[in-house]
Amino acid sequence: MSDTDKKEYDLEEIFNFISNEIDGVFIIDAINDEYIAVKSNDMFCDMFGSTGSYLELSRILMFHFSDSSEKIIANYHVFLPKLNKFNGKYSKRIKIFYKEKPYIIQMTIYPLEDTGKHVLLLTEMDTCDYLQDFFTTEKEQNINSTYLFTMYVDLTTDMCSSVSVTEMSDSPMNYQELRYTQWRMMIVNMIFPDDQPMFLSYTDPEYIKEHLVSRRSTSFDCQMQNLKGEFIWVKIIFNKIETLHNDDFRFVYIVQDIHESSMRLIEDLKRYEELSNLDSLTGVFNHGKIENELYKYIELRQDENIPLSLLMLDIDYFKNVNDKYGHSAGDAVLKKLVSVIINNFKKYDITLGRWGGEEFIGICYGLNKTQLYEIAEKLRIAISKTEFDCVGHVTCSMGIIEINHMEKMHDAFERVDKALYTAKSNGRNCVICG
Ligand code: GH3
Ligand code: MG
Ligand code: MG
Repeated sequence: MSDTDKKEYDLEEIFNFISNEIDGVFIIDAINDEYIAVKSNDMFCDMFGSTGSYLELSRILMFHFSDSSEKIIANYHVFLPKLNKFNGKYSKRIKIFYKEKPYIIQMTIYPLEDTGKHVLLLTEMDTCDYLQDFFTTEKEQNINSTYLFTMYVDLTTDMCSSVSVTEMSDSPMNYQELRYTQWRMMIVNMIFPDDQPMFLSYTDPEYIKEHLVSRRSTSFDCQMQNLKGEFIWVKIIFNKIETLHNDDFRFVYIVQDIHESSMRLIEDLKRYEELSNLDSLTGVFNHGKIENELYKYIELRQDENIPLSLLMLDIDYFKNVNDKYGHSAGDAVLKKLVSVIINNFKKYDITLGRWGGEEFIGICYGLNKTQLYEIAEKLRIAISKTEFDCVGHVTCSMGIIEINHMEKMHDAFERVDKALYTAKSNGRNCVICG
């Protein structure tokens, strides 16, 4: 602007020009939690009316999801900036949705001297491409999907401030002063109840002072409410800030959203746990698992009056099969035998496991000795009639018992083993009740 241009405008004209450009003017009284709209365009008039609660206004403006104007859960209001604490001018660009369309708003706050009040100016920006870009950078989206919030903590003064709540902004918001010890007790409400004791012990100031060292981050995983209020898996990562003095206890910590990878990990672990319970040759439960299952059934039955029986099966002269046809033919027999057993048991609640070698155990829930005897006899006949590749026919001996009320697992096994031994001594290919 040259000197001659300047003369063409007086202050009043410039003031009028600026006030025409501003779409919303609000006088804020933070102490009494009130505001009065001095000027509002249609959008701000719809959103805020002519008067209302100042806190509510700041929540609408600053605490909503970046892809809608839906407000975030109240627990996150702990991050709400204390706008009444501004001594100077504060300005920020925000994106809000109105009638499902995004608007970029320039917000500026000026303190009104000596009144404790503020004037808040809102200007709707032209949604030029560059502004759209400004709010949808890849960086911001990455941060939004990765970090929930970041904090700065000084344990020496017990103060903390929010560096950013990433859904709202990835720029510093470090104007809120809050005691760390208070803040921690507010945040614990957002932690999944089972994880709260762990959160409290790892965020305890004395624990942090003792265990954290510079240049090494420390973290723990827990479930925490996201901005919508859903519990998700997060990693809370602490990092001690390097300072000249060892007794400076300053930290930053980041709450990282690890929900997707944690859910995948939990699924993988479950799959591996299931695999570790199975016998690799036959696919039925292995020794450890079937023992565990029986223990569970015995416990379960103590409160119920339901019969529980046990079956132990052993192939007759299996050593001969291996010796004559080779180990892999023996393996094939074991696999096929299991499919015959499963086929015969499928109508019943029988849990099958490989006890070891060519010995199998069936836990028969809801079957008494008489019922099980019938099933076992049918199975014995079915096995003896089965044609096994290369090997031809094999037979099995079985011992069965009904587990007595309050009988110990060890005693039950001893009895069923004895019944099987009797079946062997009686000439094999038979079922003996113990
Ligand atoms: P009995 O009628 O007294 O039970 O005679 P048996 O020959 O079946 O009894 P023994 O316990 O002496 O032999 C069991 C054989 O089972 C010994 C071993 O070679 C075989 N065996 C154990 N596990 C496996 C396996 O996983 N695969 C194969 N192919 N053979 C196995
Ligand atoms: Mg045998
Ligand atoms: Mg054996």
